[in-house]
Amino acid sequence: QPITTDMATLTRQVKKFATDKKLEIETLKIREEYRREFLGNVSHELKTPLFTVQGYLLTLLDGAMNDKTIRKKYLQRAEKGVERLIYIVQDLDMITKLEVGDLNLMTTKFDIVEVVQNVFDLLEMKASEKNIMLMFDMKYIKAIEVFGDREKIQQVVMNLMVNSIKYGKEDGTTEVSIEDLVNNKVIVRVMDNGEGIEKQHIPRLFERFYRVDKSGARSEGGSGLGLAIVKHIIEAHDEKIYVESKVNVGSEFSFTLEKAK
Ligand code: ADP
Repeated sequence: QPITTDMATLTRQVKKFATDKKLEIETLKIREEYRREFLGNVSHELKTPLFTVQGYLLTLLDGAMNDKTIRKKYLQRAEKGVERLIYIVQDLDMITKLEVGDLNLMTTKFDIVEVVQNVFDLLEMKASEKNIMLMFDMKYIKAIEVFGDREKIQQVVMNLMVNSIKYGKEDGTTEVSIEDLVNNKVIVRVMDNGEGIEKQHIPRLFERFYRVDKSGARSEGGSGLGLAIVKHIIEAHDEKIYVESKVNVGSEFSFTLEKAK
């Protein structure tokens, strides 16, 4: 920087330097706060399943091991707890990558119909546990080619459908539809007729670790990261995500994709 003797310029430069430093410190403070909150949330999320697993193992060691049927039941439950931990860690891994922008999208042309059908196959069992019918209109036997990262978009459809089953009602339905929009886009909708979401929660749904009903959602065993992951993936594609919901009527989550000609 050239040395200046002009007092006014000098004062301005000193002021600017002070403001820059202040901004830098503010940014660091926010980052630190964010990091602390994130770590707090992570340990909180991990605690529940860890204590569950520990509980079953301790009971087994305490003598329950001697009963063959109880032994099997408790080991299965401990294993379920470990499975949940794995899901949470996978989601954490994903959200960390997404938040630091370390997500390399592998954009290709792919058939979104096939992706939806894959997810249906993977979730058939989960849906049948609540007798929820999975519906995908038969008019989609034809391929619909879109652009995007196939694996990541499959994760989006997966997370939305898992939620529609989790928060769907017994004997209900989950329906997926794909529709053409103007300007060469398609919109994929995932609809359920479950518990729905109160209006005041809608703006915060996509925040990481945000849950409407802390206790109720926890028993369903999510990580509270599903929708945050969905939003990041869709926004990384420069696409849009929407939600509409009515309490006791149901919810509809939808997102856009670019159509391949
Ligand atoms: P979780 O692991 O808790 O399911 P998500 O990020 O996937 O985390 O969802 C955040 C919250 O949004 C859920 O805890 C739930 O309260 C609400 N939610 C998400 N999808 C639905 C849905 N289809 N119907 C009703 N509530 C939903």
